Amino acid sequence: MSALENGSGKREFEGKRALVTGGSRGIGAGIVRALLDAGAEVLTTARSASATVPDGASFVTADVRTPAGARGIAEAVRETLGGLDVIVHNAGAARPHASIAAIPDEEWQDALDINFLAAVRLDALLAPAMREQRSGAIVHISSAAVPAVAPQFLHYTAAKAALENYSRGLAAELAPAGVRVNTVTPGRVVTPGGEAVREQWAQLDPTQVHSGSPVPLGREGQPADIADAVLFLLSDRASWLTGSNLVVDGGEFPRG
Ligand code: NAP
Repeated sequence: MSALENGSGKREFEGKRALVTGGSRGIGAGIVRALLDAGAEVLTTARSASATVPDGASFVTADVRTPAGARGIAEAVRETLGGLDVIVHNAGAARPHASIAAIPDEEWQDALDINFLAAVRLDALLAPAMREQRSGAIVHISSAAVPAVAPQFLHYTAAKAALENYSRGLAAELAPAGVRVNTVTPGRVVTPGGEAVREQWAQLDPTQVHSGSPVPLGREGQPADIADAVLFLLSDRASWLTGSNLVVDGGEFPRG
């Protein structure tokens, strides 16, 4: 039996309806592709459509940083999928600054909105139906940079730390209804957003950790590495797993 098949020979996510935020490129597009390959019906989102939205996925334009954006996505879920079995909160962004003092107030709010509150707002709109149907799986995408608390990124890592904490709390609340909630924490993954941020960071601080330091497992991550971990946590193979945080980073940022 292949990992993508279940006992009946069907593909593992056949009949499942999935929402992935930020699926127009990078890690999100990798997760969308993996879910489509496994048989899911997928709706994805971004602020603008692009040629890299995987074929076969439905797409809605929305800015996840605002309550109106979250409501628009929830409406599109109802119209396109009718209901939901899987949510992947992937949209996120980081912009480095020279120091903590140089992070403007509005960027603290922006970092919280996209990396933390977007998930809180969407879950508030979508998780009640999962609770009612007594099934569902949610994954939040964090960052392996959280424990490093680099001053240049403190708005980003603080928001992702809040997301990890929130994810565990939501897992506890939804477990009695059979809805599982987990976090996947990527390390250094080759994506348009990741590469752009690391370049900006290297310009601000040429000594930063990513300037040439090797990943212990010998290579940088690819979106498919993260998608594999996400699909495992969403699948029935993880049916006794909730409130966990799976770090997928080639061994770069060990957590004790
Ligand atoms: P990416 O290449 O920049 O892709 C981000 C995706 O999110 C795009 O589809 C983008 O489309 C969408 N997005 C960005 N801002 C949005 C907004 N305000 N509203 C709606 N959609 C928005 O990023 P990535 O590297 O794949 O990162 C994906 C996730 O992994 C993020 O949560 C990131 O923090 C996390 N992560 C990445 C790495 C890495 O090394 N790549 C490491 C650790 C964690 P639009 O721009 O058109 O909106």
